[in-house]
Amino acid sequence: MIRAALIGNPNVGKTEIFNRLTGLSQNVGNFPGVTVEKKAGRLVHKGQQIELVDLPGTYSLTAHAVDEIVARDYIVIERPDVIVDIVDGSNLERNLYLTMLLLEMDANLVIALNRWDMVAARGMRIDVEKLSRLLGCPVVPTVAIAGEGLEELKDSIVDVAGQKRAEGPRSAINYGDDIEQLINKVEGVIKECTALNGKYPKRWLAIKMLEGDERVMEQTRADLSSSQLVKILRIIEAGEAAIK
Ligand code: GDP
Ligand code: MG
Repeated sequence: MIRAALIGNPNVGKTEIFNRLTGLSQNVGNFPGVTVEKKAGRLVHKGQQIELVDLPGTYSLTAHAVDEIVARDYIVIERPDVIVDIVDGSNLERNLYLTMLLLEMDANLVIALNRWDMVAARGMRIDVEKLSRLLGCPVVPTVAIAGEGLEELKDSIVDVAGQKRAEGPRSAINYGDDIEQLINKVEGVIKECTALNGKYPKRWLAIKMLEGDERVMEQTRADLSSSQLVKILRIIEAGEAAIK
């Protein structure tokens, strides 16, 4: 069984794609602990069962809004095999912000470049191959309302799920030497912590800790020994001092 999740900014065609991929076999519940609707459906492609979860539409993945928390907890805790990032091709720049955040989470991505009809209608041109190369994941143009590109999208989901990626940063974003050094130091402490092993993407965790993300600090506190926690807090302090 392949576990896949759909994510995207609001109004990009996520529901349309979800419905077309899953047909009528969807059921609605709630994400654990919150009343945000959880739509899940199943499909079979190339003999493979795929469970597809529709994550809340979101522009970002901070710990401040409940939809964003649901989406990011799902990604970093449940670790689906594939994240299908639905991007509005006619609004590429704005949409790619979320894509960058997903790459930072070490998500196994497939990108659906939806509203491909609008891209042409607006006289825009997107070099799909180049985008795929730059992001390091498959990019599939789709027109959800016409069902175009959905077979290719399913192919890519199955392909990406089959590639067992080694853990480690495929990092989309380089924050510059000073910050990268801090990230590496915090990541070093995280790697020492066996209780955290395999739980979260390590680089993502390090970045969130440096950002002072309270939810991440809470979620990891019980796993870190007090000396590990102190080490991390010292690195953060030293970093803050250096930046001021
Ligand atoms: P969601 O908010 O991401 O779930 O987006 P919806 O699936 O509700 O779609 C938002 C709007 O975009 C609806 O009016 C859809 O009919 C339309 N839409 C979805 N996909 C496409 C597409 O590929 N091309 C065009 N032109 N419109 C689309
Ligand atoms: Mg929707």
